[in-house]
Amino acid sequence: MEKILEINALPEGQSVRKFLFKPEELELKLFGAEFNEPVLFELTCIRTGFEITCMGWVTTKVRLQCVRCLEMFEYELKEAVNFMARLSLGAPEQVDLWDEDMVHVDRHKGVLNIAPRIHDAVLLGIPNYPLCSEDCKGLCPVCGANLNVTTCEHIDSLGQNDKSPDPRWEKLAALLKKTNKSS
Ligand SMILES: [Zn+2]
Ligand SMILES: [Zn+2]
Repeated sequence: MEKILEINALPEGQSVRKFLFKPEELELKLFGAEFNEPVLFELTCIRTGFEITCMGWVTTKVRLQCVRCLEMFEYELKEAVNFMARLSLGAPEQVDLWDEDMVHVDRHKGVLNIAPRIHDAVLLGIPNYPLCSEDCKGLCPVCGANLNVTTCEHIDSLGQNDKSPDPRWEKLAALLKKTNKSS
C-alpha cells in the first residue's frame, strides 16, 4: 500500500486513497502507550486543478494505561486529518511544516510525505486521561486492590462501593499501588 500521496496521479474530482503504516514507520513513542497495531489512513481527495482538498480519518488500536486502575487496555483511536494541498512551482522538496492547513507541493514532483501528519494525528488522538471503561471502579485507596476484578474489606467502610468512585482517590490509589509493588 502507498506511503506517499501522489498528487499528480490524482484524477480531477473525488477519489479515495488508503495508506497503511507500521507503528515503527511512524516512529510512534509516548510514555504509557504501546503501539503494536498498523495505522490506517483513509483519505478522500477532491481535486480541482492544482488544488486538492483532503479529508480523512486515522484509525488504529493503541494500548494505554487506565488512570484509575492502572491496567493496560486497548483503545480504538480515530482522529480526523483535514488539509489542503496546492501544487506550486518552486515549492520546497521536503514538506515537514505540517502546522498549516495548506501544504505546498512542488508541481513537478507532485508527491507529499504524509507520515509526519499521521504521526501527529495518532498522538493527538490519545486521550489525556485514558479510562479502560467509563465506570472503571479503580483501585482501593487502602490496599490497592483492583476493584474491577475483586473486592476488599475497605470498600464498605469508605463508602466507595458505588459505580463512580471519588476522583480524588485516584492519585492516592495510584501511589499506593506503586508503593505496594516496590515493597
Ligand atoms: Zn480502569
Ligand atoms: Zn482495600
